[in-house]
Amino acid sequence: MNIKYFKKLVLITIVFCLLILVSVQSSAQYLTTAGQVIHEKFWAPNSYLFGHLMEKTIYQTPIFHFDSKQKGPVVLIIGGTHGNEAAGFEAVHRLLEQFSKNGIKQGEIFLIPEANKLAVDNNKRRIPVPADVDIEKGNLNRCYPGDLKGLPMEKEAYEIAGLIKNNNINLVLDLHESRKLHMETVKPDGSYSGLGQTLIFTPDEDAAWLGMIVLDQLNGSIDSEQNQFSMVERPIKNSTAWMAGEIFGIPGFTVETYRGLPLADRIRYHVQIVNIILKEKGMI
Ligand SMILES: [Zn+2]
Repeated sequence: MNIKYFKKLVLITIVFCLLILVSVQSSAQYLTTAGQVIHEKFWAPNSYLFGHLMEKTIYQTPIFHFDSKQKGPVVLIIGGTHGNEAAGFEAVHRLLEQFSKNGIKQGEIFLIPEANKLAVDNNKRRIPVPADVDIEKGNLNRCYPGDLKGLPMEKEAYEIAGLIKNNNINLVLDLHESRKLHMETVKPDGSYSGLGQTLIFTPDEDAAWLGMIVLDQLNGSIDSEQNQFSMVERPIKNSTAWMAGEIFGIPGFTVETYRGLPLADRIRYHVQIVNIILKEKGMI
């Protein structure tokens, strides 16, 4: 081999190694292998990208949009509001794949797979805030309806409120996880300390109806009664679902799986719940 070709070969090898290094570093290590494959595909330029929240900041995170071009419900599905609740953001990745493959029959769907992007990266519930500030200001699910001039998660909450308003979104599903199984923590007086395996719904007829449909269709397939889903009324103040009901007067859910169950089951429950609701709405 002459020296010219040898140099070329060395150069090509170096470039190839660098490309591999970059691709390994950019892959989303916090996701399962299946989640990473979807992430790589959709975080590359594609026609479903609608825009970004917190654009050009370290909190920047994509919004995806599927439009049937037929009149119908406009749904917002969110994962990663809490960065340590993996089943939620894993499920939204799988829904991205599902809608891109199968499309939707009517209406529109907006997806925010990793709402609190920095918290997701660090596997944390919230992001840090300055020492003199309430830590819940770093918890996206306590920042609604948001504040344009506030701390990062207050700003992001404000942007999500704007997304709902500007696009006439009329149903919100925010996918979460809980450390405690709801059924195990309910006391005789009705109080509880855990929300695992629940649908927390806004107090309106449409949400109550959708919740009943989910329970009816899903619980039959869950052997252990403890792990079956139940409904809890009224999302916590300043959460995404709370805003849906209180500010926009639209149905909203905080869907909570129980983190003591295998991750694959928790992801499947989230995907099934979203699918039951979308089917009931005639969208899939
Ligand atoms: Zn949560």
